[in-house]
Amino acid sequence: MKLTIKEIAYALGRESSSSREITTLLTDSRALCRAGETVFAAIRTDVNDGHRYVADLYRGGVRAFIVEHVPDIMKGVTDADFIIVDDVLDAIRQLAVYVRSKVDIPVIGITGSRGKTVVKELLYAALLKAGKKVVRSPRSWNSQIGVPLSVWRLEADTEVAIFEAGIDHSGQMERQREVIRPTIGVLTQITGEHDGGFDSRESKIAEKRKLFKDCRQVYEDSDNRRLAADVLSALGLPPSLLDGVGEVSTRLDVHDGVNDCLLIRDEFTADCEALESALDFMCRRKTASRRNTLILGDLLHREGEDAMSVYARVAQLVNLAGIDRMIGIGPEISSCSSVFDPLIASEFMLSTDDFLNRYDISQFDRELILIKGREPEGFDEICRRLESPRHLSILEVNLDAVVANYNAYRSLLNPKTGIVAMVKASGYGTGALELAKTLQSQGAAYLAVAVIEEGVALRRAGITMPIIVLNPVTTNYQALFSYGLEPAVFSINELKMLIDEASRYGRTAYNIHIKLETGMRRLGFVENELDDLIDVLSATDRVKVASAFSHLATADCLDQDAYTEAQFNTFEAMTRKLTSRLPYEIKRHILNTAGIMRYPDRQYDMVRLGIGLYGISPLPADKTAIELRCVARLTSTVISLKHWPAGTTVGYGRRGVLSRDSVIATVPIGYADGIDRHFGCGNASFVINGHKCPIVGNICMDLCMVDVTDTVVKVGDQVEIFGPEAPIETLAATLGTIPYEVLSSVSPRVHRIYYRE
Ligand SMILES: *Cc1c(COP(=O)(O)O)cnc(C)c1O
Repeated sequence: MKLTIKEIAYALGRESSSSREITTLLTDSRALCRAGETVFAAIRTDVNDGHRYVADLYRGGVRAFIVEHVPDIMKGVTDADFIIVDDVLDAIRQLAVYVRSKVDIPVIGITGSRGKTVVKELLYAALLKAGKKVVRSPRSWNSQIGVPLSVWRLEADTEVAIFEAGIDHSGQMERQREVIRPTIGVLTQITGEHDGGFDSRESKIAEKRKLFKDCRQVYEDSDNRRLAADVLSALGLPPSLLDGVGEVSTRLDVHDGVNDCLLIRDEFTADCEALESALDFMCRRKTASRRNTLILGDLLHREGEDAMSVYARVAQLVNLAGIDRMIGIGPEISSCSSVFDPLIASEFMLSTDDFLNRYDISQFDRELILIKGREPEGFDEICRRLESPRHLSILEVNLDAVVANYNAYRSLLNPKTGIVAMVKASGYGTGALELAKTLQSQGAAYLAVAVIEEGVALRRAGITMPIIVLNPVTTNYQALFSYGLEPAVFSINELKMLIDEASRYGRTAYNIHIKLETGMRRLGFVENELDDLIDVLSATDRVKVASAFSHLATADCLDQDAYTEAQFNTFEAMTRKLTSRLPYEIKRHILNTAGIMRYPDRQYDMVRLGIGLYGISPLPADKTAIELRCVARLTSTVISLKHWPAGTTVGYGRRGVLSRDSVIATVPIGYADGIDRHFGCGNASFVINGHKCPIVGNICMDLCMVDVTDTVVKVGDQVEIFGPEAPIETLAATLGTIPYEVLSSVSPRVHRIYYRE
């Protein structure tokens, strides 16, 4: 929406005479593009404060701000508008309410657990075909911030709007409704997920329906296409507009490519807006060692809209994103090739077939490649060619789920409590690097790894936040100091050596973390060593105790509270002595994931969050009051299918004996990939096409066989070993172990893929 500052102030119950025109409402300072037309809303969250970026944005040309106070260094600035409000988050909501009140058009409000984005994108594509001016929520912006920002995008000439609303607590939907004010309501499939904030499934559905209070029509269905067709009819448009429109995926995948390339595949709707956000994602992954390449297909746009102007905007985005090389594929983009900057190496071709015919692996070398195009035109095949040799077994890691889990635990803690994110053992098996990047941008206080090499790898990959090394029987002090890794120290000898080495390397006040033994009986100083410890620490300026910590042995044992309490008491006494006798402040921490959930009043200055980040609760489901999302999914592929008569034996030692005529699938994953051999002989099942298929016979080193007699399976089908459909908890229980072990056992040879939704 285009508004003047005067109007914005009015909408917020403030006054201003400024006639400055604003088109962009910005909340993420990194996404600045049209500075002169931007108003920045300085939102405060638990981990960040938008007011910190005001001065930078001013330098970048922004002249309008919605703030709770004017930051000191901005006092005296006269050529910018500051609208001062009590609560910026509430202000952007009020602003959205105002913007919404200016348009009188059909507004479709979509909620539900699954399929919201799919329905929205189906409708979007169909409405563009009908030549409508449509505004929709970008990707799946459906949160308390996302919805107001989406509504802001309404323009005076918008003909239809489509907005998603998501909620995770009761009471939120009413607020979403006030902003969206839908005239047509859509409820997609409701599943059991995200139940954390609700008493029951019924209360969740009831809450979701609140969105529809004033709707003229409401449609409920678990079939996404049928829902989209119903809405089109309600708008007086033919459902046949949906013909040929494919369902989108919201995924943005990062894969290893040929010749040390890194591929980003964006399967979301191929329009200008989605390109913009994919380019933004790409920019955050740029490195000096790779060129930046864009492979782009014809974009979706409104029927009747001038193609030249669409691609002129694309050319602008391509320039802004610093793309070095561009390959345009499709008749329309090719016909608009003249709008692209001649300084960017570019090639255009009419079809993906042309590309595939010309394709030569050596043309791509050390590039970060964003591939954005519609699948019906064959972009998946391009992606396949550019991928490094295809992996049949993959551990997929959902980074958005990591963020959601991080925030779920964050919500249990005081805003000031720091989170030490445990990424030891290669991020519990999921791979530490992408996780570390995610947690660094999420504002975690520390990362913790088990050994120095893990810390070095993170530093070399550009992680700058503080890192604790938990079990450093240090031999490589050079690495410790030069990479700024902070050791946990558990004995006087270690400490003395560290002090000697610190003086050898000329270090002073080097941060260390003192490990106290309070009940685990593993590592750490015991009470009668404290005096010695304090003497050594007092006599040196080489090291400085950044924190003192201990580890709970029984936080997840519901019948051992007395033991845990005793550990807390010991910890309290020991740390009190330490802090009273050292002349500086020392942070304290003792809680692991289970501890955070059960003893939030013992959070001290920091907590150490491990398994919960990975979406696994260390407590029984009925004791888990927060909503966790599945992070890791291990899959493989059916590579062979055979029919065998009853009585046939399968595998080593003939341990699989078929009691009936059977169809047996072979899957290329075995104990060398971390699939415990005890899962064999029917002890565990994998999920194929939604069906549980038991393992037959012994698991081999690289392969195993599963019984697929009761379901329809073909070669190439995906097999879920664990993930949303095959809970890792079940597999762990089969072995009498904990999910930690199953997850961290996935061997390094299994390919890892990281994605955001
Ligand atoms: C692994 C570890 C944690 C995290 O434990 P979770 O149960 O995964 O939360 C915390 N502290 C220490 C010292 C650890 O080694």
